[in-house]
Amino acid sequence: MTNDRPLSKQEVLKTYYGYDSFREGQEELIDCLLSGQDVCGVMPTGAGKSVCYQVPALMLPHVTLVVSPLISLMKDQVRALNQMGVHAAYLNSSLTWNQYKKALALAKEGRYKIIYVAPERLLTEDFLDFARQTPISLVAVDEAHCVSQWGQDFRPSYLKIPEFIEGLPSRPVLGAFTATATKEVRADIIGMLKLSEPHVSVTGFDRKNLYFEVRHDRDKYKGIRDYLRAHPDSSGIIYCATRKNVEEVCDKLLADGFLATRYHAGLSDAERRSNQEAFTYDDVPVMVATNAFGMGIDKSNVRFVLHYNMPKNMESYYQEAGRAGRDGAKADCILFYSGQDVITNQFFIEQNRDNEELTGEALELVRERDRERLKKMTFYCHTTDCLRDYMLRYFGEYGSNYCGNCGNCKSTFETVDITALANDLIGCILTSGMRYGVNVILDTLRGSKSEKVLRFGLDKNRYYSTHAQETVVFLRQVFQYLVLTEYLAVTDDQFPIVKVKEKGLTFYSETGEFRPVLTMKAARKTTQTPAAAGKEPGRNGRKRTTAPGSAPFEELRRLRTQIARAQHVPPYMILSDKSLESMCVLLPQTKDEMLAVHGMGEIRYQKYGGQFLALCRKLAGESEDFL
Ligand code: ADP
Ligand code: ZN
Repeated sequence: MTNDRPLSKQEVLKTYYGYDSFREGQEELIDCLLSGQDVCGVMPTGAGKSVCYQVPALMLPHVTLVVSPLISLMKDQVRALNQMGVHAAYLNSSLTWNQYKKALALAKEGRYKIIYVAPERLLTEDFLDFARQTPISLVAVDEAHCVSQWGQDFRPSYLKIPEFIEGLPSRPVLGAFTATATKEVRADIIGMLKLSEPHVSVTGFDRKNLYFEVRHDRDKYKGIRDYLRAHPDSSGIIYCATRKNVEEVCDKLLADGFLATRYHAGLSDAERRSNQEAFTYDDVPVMVATNAFGMGIDKSNVRFVLHYNMPKNMESYYQEAGRAGRDGAKADCILFYSGQDVITNQFFIEQNRDNEELTGEALELVRERDRERLKKMTFYCHTTDCLRDYMLRYFGEYGSNYCGNCGNCKSTFETVDITALANDLIGCILTSGMRYGVNVILDTLRGSKSEKVLRFGLDKNRYYSTHAQETVVFLRQVFQYLVLTEYLAVTDDQFPIVKVKEKGLTFYSETGEFRPVLTMKAARKTTQTPAAAGKEPGRNGRKRTTAPGSAPFEELRRLRTQIARAQHVPPYMILSDKSLESMCVLLPQTKDEMLAVHGMGEIRYQKYGGQFLALCRKLAGESEDFL
């Protein structure tokens, strides 16, 4: 590197991060900040917000402050910056008083280019003392939606940010960043943080590298186990709705010989910390967790996010699923649906006492909104249209109706006439007195001799065995379709009972005559997830297997782990999975070729480029022999 002239933003991106181009939205936000204009950047999780303020931070003359509410995230980011050769520090409650004093003293000497600071520190005397004496180029507010009382993450200390800015001798440029897209929150961010004529950039919520799918497996655990068996070397998260489910799934996986760990609010701080660390450092590839896990976790090589239970709304789902594939490489987001999840969520909504300030009408309003959101989430699990499209429309964008990379786009559906089946299903529920759960009803239609069917005398029911030829899976699909379209309903009791709704009563005909025709779309064949495939053309147009699991990839990965262990950082901070894949394809033989690898910049090259180069040369030799 030469020090004669300042680096351009492209050069900063290449040198420090090793990336060749900016992603959507990044460049315009960086340009504005560099020219002194405030910005408000709305980008989905994983889109790359940090680059938007870190690149200007590296180019502006003075220090940049990053206000962030999450201690773990701050540590992570500072560690990653240090890895890249940038002097950075954080100031928050995890430091001892002495450490804090020392960091502030170094900050005053101008030793740091970037300082992460917790919002509640801003107006403390020591910090103000530093901030008034030291010129500040940029203040970046991360998770800026925390300033809004509309959101669930409201933090009163965020309201102090404008006061802090106003107290500075000269006003730095201000950048606010969030993944929350609603209009109210955006208006709050601009108003409450007092951004001055900000440039607002909203980046598309589409994450093309993510594959979405909904599965309706009867045995969800088996579905998950089979997925893990098919992806033995991948790291990922399995989300469950309750602590109990986390324990169950994790125990079963351990018993089945998988390396898994767990995370939920019922564990001690120490255990949570050590389990999280085992996962980030790739010591344990599978994390089973409640939604308590994830905020502030920046592991970029999460190859799958499986949902053992359906979340309560699309916002939660998109946020959790979005933790997959942050490095831009292919990743799977698969939701294992069951009707029980709807009931559990309904129960949570009716019991919701999260916010004690809400009573009466306001509480009912919130519940109504939550019910509506749950409905939209449930529709996602049943739609036969493009899943990505459904999601984008939910967040107010337009999709293409066909993404080619979701479970529905990859399945073939056919329209099935379910008139007779629906009629008999409703008839069976009515004639048995609306007293039974779905399993008993479906068993009756199938002509099962199960203990319950016989005990309740349902083998005498006139609809007994009328659909013995159908598969359970298909009967369940039809049943769920009828619930969704409000012909039927399921109570939210401990043992849920199926009831027929008004619409179902009108539809039903005892004689089976004069019925309107009812159809639904059903999947004809199941799909295969693409994340495991991953073949790309190699040098000289040859095909080389670059997928995780292939021998060269595994060797590169082993080297990455060795280097990470020696440096005491998580492997993904050395190089992302995507970088390893790219290296696998290119198998660079020279420094220049190595620098063309995605994510391998000059700084990283100086640290361990040589080691990777040596290994690539060896691998290239082997593969020439092989071909
Ligand atoms: P966010 O904060 O928006 O959730 P991050 O800033 O953590 O996302 O970025 C997500 C990942 O994307 C990181 O691994 C980051 O290094 C990577 N990334 C960011 N910008 C680019 C880019 N221009 N090219 C390639 N990767 C990028
Ligand atoms: Zn699709």
